[in-house]
Amino acid sequence: MADLKKHYRTCNLCEAMCGIEITYEGTEIKSIKGDPKDPLSEGHICPKAVALQDIYHDPDRLKTPIKKSENGKWEPISWEAAFQEIGTKIRSIQQEFGKNAVGSYLGNPNAHNFGNGVFLPLYLRALGTYNRYSSASADQLPHHVASNFMFGHGMIVPIPDIDRTDFMIIIGGNPMVSNGSMMTAPNVSKRLKRIQQRGGKIVVVDPRRTETARKADEHIFIRPERDALLLLGLIKTIQSKGLVNLRHLESDLIGFEKLEEITKDFSVKEIAPIVGISVGKIEDLAIRFANAPSAVCYSRMGASTQTFGGLCQWLTNVLNIITGNFDRAGGAMFTQPAFDLLKITNKKGKKDSYGRFRSRVRNLPYYNSEFPVATLADEILTEGEGQIKAMICIAGNPVLSSPNGERLAEAFDELDFMVSVDIYLNETSRHADIILPAATGLEIPHYDIFFNALSVKNTVKYSTPLFGKKENQKYDWEIVRKLISVITDQPESEMTPEQFLDSMLQTGIYADKGLSLKMLKENPHGIDLGALQPCLISRLQTNDDKIQLAPQLFVDDLERLKSTFFSGKKSENEFPFQMIGRRLLRSHNTWMHNAYRLVKGRNECTLILNPKDAEALQIQNGETVKVTSKVGSIEIETQVSDEIMEGVVSIPQGWGHGRKGVKMKIAQEHAGISINDLTDHERIDELTGNAAFNGVGVRVESII
Ligand code: SF4
Repeated sequence: MADLKKHYRTCNLCEAMCGIEITYEGTEIKSIKGDPKDPLSEGHICPKAVALQDIYHDPDRLKTPIKKSENGKWEPISWEAAFQEIGTKIRSIQQEFGKNAVGSYLGNPNAHNFGNGVFLPLYLRALGTYNRYSSASADQLPHHVASNFMFGHGMIVPIPDIDRTDFMIIIGGNPMVSNGSMMTAPNVSKRLKRIQQRGGKIVVVDPRRTETARKADEHIFIRPERDALLLLGLIKTIQSKGLVNLRHLESDLIGFEKLEEITKDFSVKEIAPIVGISVGKIEDLAIRFANAPSAVCYSRMGASTQTFGGLCQWLTNVLNIITGNFDRAGGAMFTQPAFDLLKITNKKGKKDSYGRFRSRVRNLPYYNSEFPVATLADEILTEGEGQIKAMICIAGNPVLSSPNGERLAEAFDELDFMVSVDIYLNETSRHADIILPAATGLEIPHYDIFFNALSVKNTVKYSTPLFGKKENQKYDWEIVRKLISVITDQPESEMTPEQFLDSMLQTGIYADKGLSLKMLKENPHGIDLGALQPCLISRLQTNDDKIQLAPQLFVDDLERLKSTFFSGKKSENEFPFQMIGRRLLRSHNTWMHNAYRLVKGRNECTLILNPKDAEALQIQNGETVKVTSKVGSIEIETQVSDEIMEGVVSIPQGWGHGRKGVKMKIAQEHAGISINDLTDHERIDELTGNAAFNGVGVRVESII
């Protein structure tokens, strides 16, 4: 017992940034628990944190670079030889076909990775290609585009002040499982309970009675993709009942008259039957929201990853603004992070990047220097100038996470050259020629660059590595820094992420508190920087320093909404069900399924089907059925439950490890199916380019 030691760090698996306390002896982990002294998470963790030790000890994890030989077998290769070959191939492809012939894909774990957060912008600049893609356009892009047009910067993101609000509407979000998304809020369960304990109310709007809906005061079913209409109904009610209250923001916004003008085209009476919620219920919800001492509407995954994601995020902001619940305690507020991204990506006075370019094949908008991932396969498969001939994929598995993943897998096979930076031989990296594995998890230092900017509280924390990397391992940022060098054929930089972090801390808004890397190292539990404060006006980056309530791009998109729902056209019946995704507590994206403790027990990769639909189709609970969409077919076990509304089915995202050539033993034994073998790459939110995973038309058939 004498050698037991404690290590404190942030769990960087998901957005919640939970503080953890690890008890260990040598390289053996004795326990992983929540750190009660962490000022944000206050001791909370979820089951995934314990799996950090499984990732560390995972025998399937790649520890050295590997290269695919001519007979398709993987062979180890030295770091030096790998980098040399990558540099030669990438430079030669770019010389022959132009810079855009090399594409880049960045996966979600990069957002949770301190070193890559610092070096990836430099890498993208070095690569010099317009063909950049990331998981953002399969997730939260509508939030950023709405913020960009309303507040002048995509990272000025409204965060629900869950700790002080009196009334919370949650549309298409399931924070009980996610612990907040675009709202870093560890221990959501406790935070939601506290709303109720102080007399507040929580209303969840969702096609499924989710884990969050079960804790709420009220759950309202809504058909997928109707959320923007419901939001318009709420806004319209607030306007017509004289409940608009701009409060302190009255002189700081423009577009109020325009908003009044455009909402004239919508009536709650027309909206009600389409969303399947009565006029009385919509009006009652709007009135309660407007009259609450404080209130906030939070719209997330289901409202983002659909064909009207941009409209949903814009209208959510509008609802919060016109009820005086913006930049005010208990409403939607804004962070003031110690490492402030706004400081290094100031957009004021600069030309907006949205739509500056259009994608070559499908004419989709460019935003934040990237194209939508839904068109990545098109850009590889379609011949012509600018066609992607080589890919570098860093910490991403788009074959499982992008719409119509199988088509993307086929596209990767057409490439002349592909590099994956990944710890696993997975569904995407198996298409690569070279895989570079990074040290990760407990081996790396951590500072959360992005999620401190999305947190319900201002805190700051730096974690030192627990075990450090082994001699032949490299940190991910070391790999990226070296890639920059070999791509440009220039000497490698000597800068480290810590140097950059320290300078950002010492010149940030808490510099007067003496914040520095040294101070963070002396405070391993983290430092509390206080509750969110009204600060939007000082952070706005619009050219006129005003909040843009009705940006023209969004106003114009209402026509698409109208023509979809008010044209009287009947939809075809070939695919009568609408499919939605779902997130599971013990699963995160595509890469956590190789930890036995997270996949054991009952199969969670099921199709949830309403009992009335099951009866009509003569399908029993637990039966394997065939699900078919426009792009593919899968077979999956059913879970018959009235938690889902009639006509809607749900499959969780992130599964599908049954493909050949993958080396993740446990994940393959619990393979599940990939929802993205059914989702359609052509279904996007036309405004933002985000993939529309929700609302996909499918057919369900018994195969007995
Ligand atoms: S909620 Fe996220 S950050 Fe917290 S312990 Fe679980 S995986 Fe880690």
